[in-house]
Amino acid sequence: MSAKILDGRLVSDFLLKGVGREVARLKASGISPKLVIILVGNNPASLSYVRQKDLSAHKTGMDYEQLNLDEKVTTEKLVSIIEKLNKDKSVHGILVQLPLPKHISVPLVIKAIDPAKDVDGFQAYNLGKMFTSLEFEHLVPCTPKGIIEMLEFYKISPAGKHVVIVGRSNLVGKPLSVMLLNRDATVTVCHSKTKNLAKFTSTADILVAAVGKPRMIKAKMVKRGAVVIDVGTTKVKDKLTGDVDFEKVKAKASFITPVPGGIGPMTVASLMDNVVKAAKRQAKAGAVIKQMRPS
Ligand code: NAP
Repeated sequence: MSAKILDGRLVSDFLLKGVGREVARLKASGISPKLVIILVGNNPASLSYVRQKDLSAHKTGMDYEQLNLDEKVTTEKLVSIIEKLNKDKSVHGILVQLPLPKHISVPLVIKAIDPAKDVDGFQAYNLGKMFTSLEFEHLVPCTPKGIIEMLEFYKISPAGKHVVIVGRSNLVGKPLSVMLLNRDATVTVCHSKTKNLAKFTSTADILVAAVGKPRMIKAKMVKRGAVVIDVGTTKVKDKLTGDVDFEKVKAKASFITPVPGGIGPMTVASLMDNVVKAAKRQAKAGAVIKQMRPS
């Protein structure tokens, strides 16, 4: 048995084409969706992620701007830049590339972003909306959204399945667990304090690894025929490596995502989709405000 590859490049290209059509439609109606990315310092991994986002934004035809800030920038300065972008009506999405240097307060920076422009979906408001809604009406975190889109594309329904997520970060594991619960999966979330990890992973119909420990998920930890989603991306000798021992697990699973070319491109496509969603919602809110104003 050899698993079918869940091809993130193929699916993300398909999604980006759809986003591109929406961008063209919005432009024709006078709205030009715009994403601004703030990059602090020059962390090589962040530079590479930002380059991917830049390329994808250009593919869709949306407007894109990158603000490169010195790594010594203060939290106050960063917050004041975000506040200016919040007020700028030509900007629909603001993304601060993480991680930030240690002296910067990440919660204060995230809190400063207008929830309507929070295209990373990290704001408490947007996370709360995700709890109560099955559909992606608001701005939701891009990596878990990308995983859901990937499953949907390949018609893999999580309903009634046991999904085991390894990793409970606010970025991936926690929001994904809610999205999957909303889709009728039975979800188990494991983390670094979980005892006997293999006991849980080996019962998963769908196994998601979001840890950041290269090849930690071995074939013996995976149920035969499972769907395996590898979110992990760690550089090992200049090679991007996932959390799953790919070749051996591939021989046992039914579907598997590669690294690179799996969830990474899906995350970027989800971000572009969020920018279009944000632009549409802001245009709609603006129209309501205009209607309410006495002429
Ligand atoms: P994170 O914030 O560091 O969280 C890692 C999670 O893994 C934590 O919940 C941690 O548990 C858990 N963990 C650590 N060691 C473990 C172990 N031995 N057994 C079980 N669980 C363990 O990381 P993240 O931001 O979620 O990212 C995870 C990985 O995904 C990284 O490699 C990152 O680069 C990658 N990533 C990729 C994309 C993409 O687009 N492809 C997007 C985001 C992240 P505790 O909570 O107990 O510490």
